[in-house]
Amino acid sequence: MKTYPADAQHWINGSDAGLKLCLDCHKVCAEQTERCPRCGARVHQRRQNSIARSWALTLTAALLYIPANLLPMMTVSKFEEGQPQTIFSGVIELVNHGMVPIALLVFTASVVVPLLKLLGMVWLLICVRFPGAAMHRQQTLYRVIVWIGRWSMLDIFIISLLVGLVQFGQLGTVTAGIGAYAFASVVVTTMLAAMQFDPRLLWDAAEVKKL
Ligand SMILES: [Zn+2]
Repeated sequence: MKTYPADAQHWINGSDAGLKLCLDCHKVCAEQTERCPRCGARVHQRRQNSIARSWALTLTAALLYIPANLLPMMTVSKFEEGQPQTIFSGVIELVNHGMVPIALLVFTASVVVPLLKLLGMVWLLICVRFPGAAMHRQQTLYRVIVWIGRWSMLDIFIISLLVGLVQFGQLGTVTAGIGAYAFASVVVTTMLAAMQFDPRLLWDAAEVKKL
């Protein structure tokens, strides 16, 4: 067991106490446990290869973000005789048709939120590697990421719209462009990157910095 300064009792965590947590059912297990005795899930002290997997998925999402924004998202036959629309041209089209609130929603969900999530993931991964920030700052950062995560529903909303549009496309009115598939891939890979990230690594990094 590690030795701690007198004012750092609150740093003692599960691994110091010989315990680890089942992430599936939240049962506290002994350190030598490999499978949770309650639900049978594999139990690890920290998510395995969390940083490497999270980086790989985040960079994949960042690369896919480019075609998602530059390539045509959909072709709507009633707009300009079937001109393919990217996210930006679609937003401008909505504004031109007086649908400003929907244009704002689409712009926020398709451009701003995915970008903030990507930047947030990169920031967190850098913080783990270089724990230079103060403890409370990392804590605030994690809360911001969790807060942004709540807005993932907007991405799902957009995807639902796209699925609908693809089906309408079979009727010959709207067809999904390759940008739509790139955008769906951005959403999925960003979600997977966040799932692979183990937030406890932030606290581990801060602990190493403090002691
Ligand atoms: Zn369990």
